[in-house]
Amino acid sequence: MKYDLIVVGAGVLGTFHAYHAARLGKNVLLLDKDQQQKGSSTQNFGQVVPSGLSSEWNKYGQRSLVHYLELQQKADFTIRQHGSVYIASDDAEQGLLEELREKHTEEGYESLMFSKKGIVERFPDLNPDYIKSGLFYPQELSVDPRQMVHRISDYLNETGMVHVRYNHKVVATIQKMVGCDVEIENGTTYESEQVIICCGYSFKTLYPAFFAESNIIISKLQMLKTKPLTNINLKSNILTGLTIRRYESFTECPSFEALETPDRYQELKEKGIHILFKQADDGSIIIGDSHEYAGINGLSELGCDSKPEIDDLIMKEARRILNLPEDCIAERWAGFYGQHEDDIFVHDVERNIKIITGIGGKGMTSSSGYAEASIRSLYQI
Ligand SMILES: Cc1cc2nc3c(=O)[nH]c(=O)nc-3n(C[C@H](O)[C@H](O)[C@H](O)COP(=O)(O)OP(=O)(O)OC[C@H]3O[C@@H](n4cnc5c(N)ncnc54)[C@H](O)[C@@H]3O)c2cc1C
Repeated sequence: MKYDLIVVGAGVLGTFHAYHAARLGKNVLLLDKDQQQKGSSTQNFGQVVPSGLSSEWNKYGQRSLVHYLELQQKADFTIRQHGSVYIASDDAEQGLLEELREKHTEEGYESLMFSKKGIVERFPDLNPDYIKSGLFYPQELSVDPRQMVHRISDYLNETGMVHVRYNHKVVATIQKMVGCDVEIENGTTYESEQVIICCGYSFKTLYPAFFAESNIIISKLQMLKTKPLTNINLKSNILTGLTIRRYESFTECPSFEALETPDRYQELKEKGIHILFKQADDGSIIIGDSHEYAGINGLSELGCDSKPEIDDLIMKEARRILNLPEDCIAERWAGFYGQHEDDIFVHDVERNIKIITGIGGKGMTSSSGYAEASIRSLYQI
């Protein structure tokens, strides 16, 4: 059978490209090298927070909110609408919240400003001494990153919308006079009109020489997860002072340029640490994260293990914000993604073969909206 489109890589970016092409009636095959996807799309917080993105990417994030809610009507993909809240801890951070709220209000993106009292009432588990004020985005979502992408790709396969094949490592994509061949490790070949490669941070199998010149960098993030803490109620995505000092949306605010880093933040900023909390349905809380960077072939240099000194810094700052019990950590891991100075890396390696990867730290938020636009552009709609 000849497909209209083959998507290589069933992370969130590839899965949503397959989904949007199928919604246009295209005959789509989605391939992943693993038995169950285990790339960035399963290693993250699962915060869907358009409020944190630049103006351009906020629009993709808002489209994703619509798509996620439509999907959740069809089956439980773990999508929950509990909103997101940014907690300011000093005057400078509060100023940025006010500026972002003004900008988003002008753009028609809803938010609510809460005083310290309002935040303490809504989130009594947060340490009141940390809180200056908070900005709440009621429309925003969270998902369970350990389950969501698997459930969506399985659903697409089971409903026949997309043919999905796991354990299918693509080792070559070949442009022909008409269409393309996609070759799997075991020698099987599939035929398609178009190929999109969403390979996440796997840069050594397909087009390694090309990737080596791509200026993509790899980011390593350390994450921790607590045991279920059912006496804590933090259903919203919680983003804190260092996040306000880091996320793209705030960098577009007028006072960002003059923002100074207080001494208490110096060491944390050096390790790229900002503190986010995401509580799952079972009460466990994902806490992170830190950022270390390396070139495209730098995975081994970064190492796969968490560094205890970085985890300690994360937990020390986390405990300043949230009253966490002693010995509450059940899991630690390092997550990775590729990122590019253009916000995403898109390149036609052949006439009908396109690479789309390097979406950085915003893929759970923006992939669906971005993929919708990308597919519409591919089919010139
Ligand atoms: C720790 C951490 C926290 C994050 N938190 C958030 C968050 O809260 N909100 C947010 O919006 N974003 C977050 N992100 C970013 C988000 O996770 C990524 O942007 C997104 O998952 C990238 O998706 P992807 O599909 O490009 O890559 P991946 O999920 O890595 O998927 C790529 C897939 O391609 C497959 N593949 C690769 N090569 C081949 C091949 N040759 N043949 C077949 N299959 C192949 C892999 O097996 C993999 O399944 C976070 C990321 C990390 C690491």
